[in-house]
Amino acid sequence: MKRFFKMAAVCAAVIFCCGCSVGRAGADEQGGAVVQHTDVVFGTVVQMSLYSKEKEASQQAADDVMELLRSLERDQISWRLDTSEVYRINKSAGGGQGIALSDGMKELLEQSLEISEKSKGAFDITLGPLVQLWKIDSWAAGEEAGNVALPSQAAVREALGKCGFGRLLMVQGKQEGEKLLKLPQGMQLDLGAVGKGYAQSETIKLLENHPEITGAVISLGGSVLTWGSKPDGDSWRIGITDPADTGSYVGILELSGQWCISTSGDYERYVELDGVRYHHILDPSTGYPADSGVRGVTILSKEGLSADALSTACFILGSEKGMELAEEYGAEALFILSDGEMVLSEGMEKYLTVWTDR
Ligand code: ADP
Ligand code: MG
Repeated sequence: MKRFFKMAAVCAAVIFCCGCSVGRAGADEQGGAVVQHTDVVFGTVVQMSLYSKEKEASQQAADDVMELLRSLERDQISWRLDTSEVYRINKSAGGGQGIALSDGMKELLEQSLEISEKSKGAFDITLGPLVQLWKIDSWAAGEEAGNVALPSQAAVREALGKCGFGRLLMVQGKQEGEKLLKLPQGMQLDLGAVGKGYAQSETIKLLENHPEITGAVISLGGSVLTWGSKPDGDSWRIGITDPADTGSYVGILELSGQWCISTSGDYERYVELDGVRYHHILDPSTGYPADSGVRGVTILSKEGLSADALSTACFILGSEKGMELAEEYGAEALFILSDGEMVLSEGMEKYLTVWTDR
């Protein structure tokens, strides 16, 4: 583990800095064809560059990725759309019989619950009542701070009482392999911390079925997936932004092949009330925004879902326990602390060039 200091206090956001523009297709200098596409899904911006020998192949893959992301939002992940599985699960709370899970949701829940266990509850996908109490989604929609009130301690306690991954029950259904989820009355799932990572994992499966795609970099609301290589053999360059000065980076990751990069930071979504900043990553032990001395965590992993869940869990756990958890998953981690110190796993050090005074 290495420690660095930067002069100013810093925090991190992953910026996909491969220079994309809307719906543009063309040939690159090496004779390959790149399609660059920008769109909106999961209420956030997706930017992608897809490389292949033929422009049509890149365009087809870009269309397929967009269709996949839209279907994941519509059919599985969105808690707002009444077409989605999460919506139906949340509706079923207190129903008693339980609700049959799709294979994808079963996998997502099982992996999430494992990280909940390993993080000793710091990560918890059952924080729906708390996330709704804090109105975190309306902050993302840019609601004026004046329209948001600080919840009372009693309301926080009451919402917390409806949460707790240990109360989720997954039981065997009547058919072979069928799993039913029983959600107690009042409990609501919130997949905000894993949805984008799950989408990355599913995108990897899609790209595996597109052998004509030689390279890709896809950013979904700041979670980045890299795949294959550029025609000129150059590495993917992912900037880790300094949100104290969002125009600059704390460093650049240089990667080749398949990687998932996920960041959780206290600057990504927050509201200021009476001069105090409240951010969107909640500590399930208190019901309030986590205060672990960390401002940003970036996880580098071969796998999407765990990278996303780990960045959230590690933010809450802080650099010491968080680093241990990342290690358990074989993931690399970068912690940026409140005083500007950066703590890097050894593997992260290999890929990240830190722009700093040491
Ligand atoms: P982002 O969604 O901004 O990339 P994260 O992946 O860290 O950031 O997810 C934060 C979101 O996860 C919150 O907006 C909320 O919906 C949910 N959440 C907040 N605290 C927790 C927690 N302790 N465990 C699991 N999910 C959480
Ligand atoms: Mg996350």
